[in-house]
Parts: sequence; structure tokens; C-alpha cells
Amino acid sequence: MSKPVSSFKLHLRAVATGLKYLLFPNRITVYYPEEYVEPPEGYRGLIRYYPERCIQCGLCAMICPASAMKMYRTKTDRKGRPGVNYQRCIFCGFCVDICPQNALEMTKVHDVAYESLNELVVPPERFSQEPVSPAVAGGARRLKTVFDEERGLRHELA
Ligand code: SF4
Ligand code: SF4
Repeated sequence: MSKPVSSFKLHLRAVATGLKYLLFPNRITVYYPEEYVEPPEGYRGLIRYYPERCIQCGLCAMICPASAMKMYRTKTDRKGRPGVNYQRCIFCGFCVDICPQNALEMTKVHDVAYESLNELVVPPERFSQEPVSPAVAGGARRLKTVFDEERGLRHELA
């Protein structure tokens, strides 16, 4: 086959592929924050603290490999209660695993923005507040990722 003919065929195939993706986009991204992809089970997002279960043993702070968790002690509360510094946290989950009281939990919330670095340091009082995804709070459509034989991955309503 002559060169101009074979290269024309290749160009035609490239244009056809471009048109296919223009008309039927094979996209995996979503329109955040109108849509929100639910992280899978076991996802390690922001940590929540349940002070009513805590026996103030300090194991969570001791195990933390990043020195992100520390006990906040006061004059009246010498044992202290844990708080976390998200500037340092690597979301390993060691603190949650070691807690004998299940007083720490890794939530699925991850899409949070802060205005200053100081806000990333979370003392016990704030640590016990449930982290909230701004997209979910704003009423985003919740989606989950599923495996698809043809496309690989796609999203459907959670
Ligand atoms: S998740 Fe890991 S790094 Fe973060 S506070 Fe817990 S132990 Fe430390
Ligand atoms: S390990 Fe659990 S019980 Fe012990 S101080 Fe930390 S949160 Fe409280």
C-alpha cells in the first residue's frame, strides 16, 4: 500500500477515536462538589475522638510514629486527652488500632480545606467533633465506584 493511502487511513482512525471520546466521554472524574465519590470501606480519613470512652491511657500518643498525636494536659487533668496535628499525621491508623477503648475512629472524610496551618492542630475539644465533608453537607450526589468489565471503573449512585 502506498504511503499517502496508509497514512490517510491512520489519520482517519485517529479522528474517529477523537470523535468517539468527544461524543461518549470515557471519564472517571466527577463534578465535585455537586457529586461526591464515597471512599471504600476501611478508608483512612480524618480521625474522630470519643472522649466518653477514653480512659486517658496515652497509648495513642505513644504509638504515633509521626509525633502527630499528643496528650493535652491541664493543671486539673494531669493525665490529659489526645489531640492531633494534621500537619504531621500520615494517616497510618496506629493510634486507632492500639486504643483499648475504641475511642478513636478513622472517618471517611478527607475533602476538608483549612485557612491557616494553625487550624490543622486539633486539640481534644475540637477532636471530638464529627468531621464533616463540605460537599456532603452541601447536598452533593453521593456516588460509589464500581468495577465495569468494559470501562474498567465507573460510578453509580451510592
Ligand atoms: S494516624 Fe498515625 S500518624 Fe496520624 S495521629 Fe494516628 S498514629 Fe499518628
Ligand atoms: S489510646 Fe484510646 S483510651 Fe487511650 S488515651 Fe488514646 S484515645 Fe484515650
